[in-house]
Amino acid sequence: MGAQVKKGAEMKGAKNVVKTPVKEPLTSRGGKNMNAEEAIQRLLEGNKRFVEGKPANKKYPERRAELLEGQQPFVTMIGCSDSRVGLEALFDANLGEIFTIETAGNIVGDITLGSMEYGVDHLNTPLLVILSHTKCGAVTATCQGGHAEGNLAKVVEKIKPAAEKAENDVDKAIDINAQMVVEDILARSYVIKKAVDEGKTKIVIMKYHLEDGTVELKEAA
Ligand SMILES: [Zn+2]
Repeated sequence: MGAQVKKGAEMKGAKNVVKTPVKEPLTSRGGKNMNAEEAIQRLLEGNKRFVEGKPANKKYPERRAELLEGQQPFVTMIGCSDSRVGLEALFDANLGEIFTIETAGNIVGDITLGSMEYGVDHLNTPLLVILSHTKCGAVTATCQGGHAEGNLAKVVEKIKPAAEKAENDVDKAIDINAQMVVEDILARSYVIKKAVDEGKTKIVIMKYHLEDGTVELKEAA
């Protein structure tokens, strides 16, 4: 692309032409044009930049303009609502790259599954990530058996089987909960189950470590 811009400028006479900045490729490749392994690699590389405090230049003005034509995220991701777990930030991702869903305890319900299906089936993301994290307040509260009011009680109820299986060990419960979320998705969403069976998308669990900023690739479901 750089060569083309230069050629055009020469043809018109470089002196009189307002210099057009070379349009560097933005990070828009996604959807059907990337496979799961590439998507995982991209996330882990972004996390490395985040850990090192060396974020890429997002070129937001150009990126916003580019995205007016549509989105082509390369991953659908469900993470916890915890304010310390900002999905784009952790992976040093740009706008239009991660189709995000966030709930307390990264659990799913009908509406979140619908959002997830949009990412996987309509936007064709080759990867679906369940992102858990250390020190999860929702899991900790469930393990401690505190009383929850209103709709928050439903969140606790949902996490309870994982807490029980982990005998209320918070770290273990966080991992078991993430596995249960995968099972829940596959049991309740025939759309995602089909996409996984057909090899259109891959589900993986990742875990964010608040302590040092690293994201660990736990396992493929
Ligand atoms: Zn959490």
